Amino acid sequence: MNEILYENISVDDLTFDEFNEKNIRVSVLRLDKIHPLISGNKWFKLRFYLDEARKQGKKSIVTFGGAWSNHILATAAACRIEKFFSIGIIRGEAPTTLSLTLEKAKELGMQLTFINRDEYKQKNIPPQLQASEHFFIPEGGYGDPGVKGASTILDHCNKEEFSHICCAVGTGTMLAGLINASSSNHFITGISVLKNNPEIDSNVRLLVNANKKNYEIIHDYHFGGYAKYKPELISFMNSYYSRSNIPSDFVYTAKLFFAIADLIQKNYFSSGSRILIVHSGGLQGNDSLEKGTLIF
Ligand SMILES: *Cc1c(COP(=O)(O)O)cnc(C)c1O
Repeated sequence: MNEILYENISVDDLTFDEFNEKNIRVSVLRLDKIHPLISGNKWFKLRFYLDEARKQGKKSIVTFGGAWSNHILATAAACRIEKFFSIGIIRGEAPTTLSLTLEKAKELGMQLTFINRDEYKQKNIPPQLQASEHFFIPEGGYGDPGVKGASTILDHCNKEEFSHICCAVGTGTMLAGLINASSSNHFITGISVLKNNPEIDSNVRLLVNANKKNYEIIHDYHFGGYAKYKPELISFMNSYYSRSNIPSDFVYTAKLFFAIADLIQKNYFSSGSRILIVHSGGLQGNDSLEKGTLIF
């Protein structure tokens, strides 16, 4: 199993005419390149949880996610590298055929336990998993150790070159880490990929340092809701790839890239802005799309 390769992270410039015309520079921080399975931000959010589990002498990690969850696969792979046993509590009834994501997680040694959607919502932990040898990581790594890990993301670029930092928002853990690592010269914009999720603002507020106000969460680019998409998003992904050679995933980063392009068009960013878009990985989720949908 490959180790995490931080040295693979690059900052790629997007030299699109429509950005140049607005006098805006756009770069992409390629966290997607650190590992084929532990994609992008998931490693950053997991690392301090795993350190803590080791400190507490725990042998196994338990976490939560859906059938196509980047977090589940990343946890399975990270546990394999870090020599923990891993258990995934998966939302929904056990299917007759596993998703490719769960198939891979299982191959990596993760034990899968399915619980129905109601119990999942209530975060009911099956009794057989309520043992003291287990270390629990919240869904998506939401919580202070996740934020602390995400706050090290910007160590992998020259952050003072940028005026704006933009990322996709699920639980808001990564956004909170980026906000905490930012200076007062930065403005951070988070693009929520969920529909009707106003709680995200207070969830993020709970995780950021009290004095931080240099950020905004935008709710207009969910394309129908979490893991939902429209043909417009798919054609955007394909054209974006052919123009930049940067692949995106339809759940998170495609909505982010789309949003930033649209916001530039609508003059959300002032002339002279230097934008860093965080490519947070997640490409494996595209396996849930019908073959041939994407050109990459
Ligand atoms: C999980 C994930 C996110 C969301 O991160 P949060 O910290 O939960 O907001 C964004 N992008 C990708 C690719 C992800 O897999």
